[in-house]
Amino acid sequence: MSSNETLQAVRGMNDILPDEAGLWLWFEEVVRDWLHSYGYRNIRMPLVEPTDLFKRAIGEVTDIVEKEMYSFADALNGDQLTLRPEGTASCVRAVLQHNLLYNAPQRLYYSGQMFRHERPQKGRYRQFHQFGVEALGFAGPDIDAEQILMCARLWKKLGLRDVTLQLNTLGDAASRHRHRAKLIAHFEQRMELLDADSTRRLHSNPLRILDSKNPAMQDLIAAAPRLMDELEEDALRHFDEVQAMLKRHDVPFEINPHLVRGLDYYNRTVFEWVTTRLGAQGTICAGGRYDGLVEQIGGKPAPATGFAMGVERLLALLQDDGMALPKPEVDVYVVHQGELASQFASRMAEQLRDSNLRVLLHCGGGSFKSQMKKADASGACVALVIGDDEAQANEISVKPMQGGEQERVSVQNLTATVVRLLKL
Ligand code: ATP
Ligand code: MG
Repeated sequence: MSSNETLQAVRGMNDILPDEAGLWLWFEEVVRDWLHSYGYRNIRMPLVEPTDLFKRAIGEVTDIVEKEMYSFADALNGDQLTLRPEGTASCVRAVLQHNLLYNAPQRLYYSGQMFRHERPQKGRYRQFHQFGVEALGFAGPDIDAEQILMCARLWKKLGLRDVTLQLNTLGDAASRHRHRAKLIAHFEQRMELLDADSTRRLHSNPLRILDSKNPAMQDLIAAAPRLMDELEEDALRHFDEVQAMLKRHDVPFEINPHLVRGLDYYNRTVFEWVTTRLGAQGTICAGGRYDGLVEQIGGKPAPATGFAMGVERLLALLQDDGMALPKPEVDVYVVHQGELASQFASRMAEQLRDSNLRVLLHCGGGSFKSQMKKADASGACVALVIGDDEAQANEISVKPMQGGEQERVSVQNLTATVVRLLKL
């Protein structure tokens, strides 16, 4: 590349520009309030973890570990590292490392970038964002149902339309073992229909074949033996109770016996919230129970359940719904001209900020007229107009931007006047 060519971001990794970032900030605030209303607490993990963590947690024979991870050797000491492709493994690692589960179940959430080397397309990026929610140390079906109910409340709060819930259970180890043998036998009869990935996984991880999105294999997948028919009594009861609780709260769902999720750590309840409005990238939120993971990562066995939502997909859906940008980002624009006026203007801006107002102080000079144009474009509701004349009198001209009379007020009355005008 020649040195004066404009540098570009990495393919599949997006800049979020200020016009769009307003929607992100609003969304993040709504989501945080909602999480706190269910008693979840924030946890923040590194973006980089030892590669082994994801291999152990997600499973060696999964799309993520086989082909989607950004892994590299630390150039200084050769450690094998990976940019996190998801948050659950890191979250559980952090909880164990810091002993958070000692006698105390935990409701935790995190948010931020995830990295997967996928083919970029609408709703599928190489850097994307998730909110992840994990409840550790809870065994009963009540928490599974609560997490699903929580989601339903968020969709309602956001005004999302056309989102449906798909539900399944993956049972426990023994039933999966029996099912696995039947699955292998089923697919072995029709080897010629399996694609390369599925042929390779037939003996290492046949359940993953059910997760394939290859249209040519969907009939074969639909005819596969159902794990549901192998369930132990405990797992069945757990699943029945989750369903009963959802019904009591009027949360409709559809049982999808082929929903297996793309990661190995799940057992019992799994779910996905899907929409038909984002093309093939229709899953906006997905999760389930993962009782074996804590032990797999080296902790004392502890039950757990969680889910993650894709922020880009949720925002795409909101925009598709015609979601308008929330309120303008400044309240007041301060226009000033002259040496004395500039010093006075800067003090008045600070005074308004003392009352938590959002104030843009004009920088860079120019005529009153050109400054007023900038004030207009800023979206501010109020402009302060300050010349040396005002500065000498210790007064400020206050102009409502939506029309109405300009008033001249004293320093003492400035904040009250501006607040009154902002409320109009
Ligand atoms: P998919 O089947 O669409 O690949 P997944 O099962 O791999 O999704 P999860 O690991 O369950 O996804 O991640 C939870 C959520 O994160 C998904 O439901 C989706 O909303 C979002 N997500 C996953 N991968 C991407 C991506 N590459 N780009 C944007 N969002 C993503
Ligand atoms: Mg995926």
